[in-house]
Amino acid sequence: MPSLPRPAVSLVRLLANLGYGSRREVEAWIRRGRVTNAEGIALNAKSRVAHDGVRVDGEPLDPPPPLVILLHKPAGFTCSRDDPGRLIYELLPERFNRRNPALSSVGRLDKETTGLLVITDDGTLLHQLTHPKSHRTKTYDVVLDRPLRGDEAAIFASGTLMLHGESKPLLPAVLTADDSHRARVVVREGRYHQIRRMFAACGNHVVALHRCAIGPLELPGDLLAGSWRLASPVEAELLRAP
Ligand code: URA
Repeated sequence: MPSLPRPAVSLVRLLANLGYGSRREVEAWIRRGRVTNAEGIALNAKSRVAHDGVRVDGEPLDPPPPLVILLHKPAGFTCSRDDPGRLIYELLPERFNRRNPALSSVGRLDKETTGLLVITDDGTLLHQLTHPKSHRTKTYDVVLDRPLRGDEAAIFASGTLMLHGESKPLLPAVLTADDSHRARVVVREGRYHQIRRMFAACGNHVVALHRCAIGPLELPGDLLAGSWRLASPVEAELLRAP
């Protein structure tokens, strides 16, 4: 569907919301002539402008909301701003962290878990993907400390597995063994440390965990650990599809 033209907003508000700086900083840039139209003519703070028509130091602006970012999360980064240590948001351009609406991760991966993480400022998408009833599949590759016993696939599929300290059993999940210490697991919910706790319930220990897909969207093969890119329209649609 062709995108509709965006209504013009105040230049200061536009740049501040994209995280280029505080309103005061942005006003100073405008006074210095760093903010122009596409023809290189300096704009003034009162200009009402469309996003596409603005340049900062000659460069087009960062994309407008909604942003849907695919990040290949590396080990050692946390998703929660409340946890100590390096944050996944450090892997994005600095000004993305000052955007309004703010970006947040769609669910969380543990600090040592790697793989596909979606970051967005789209509240509807966030709600669709994280709602407990969404039941979107998430696919994980798991490396185990001990060999599989052989009964894990049946236990995970049973829909009766109860995690320690919880009162509701897990939804059925699918385990496919790759070899004695490696498996692929597809789950339909996102409970706290779910995969690690599922294997703990079977007397095993997860030594490496990697999310390779959310629903039908796979981690793009060209996205190296620690790098990100905007989802293509097709990828964003795959995430939105029920
Ligand atoms: N399950 C876990 O145990 N950890 C994750 O990061 C994701 C799923």
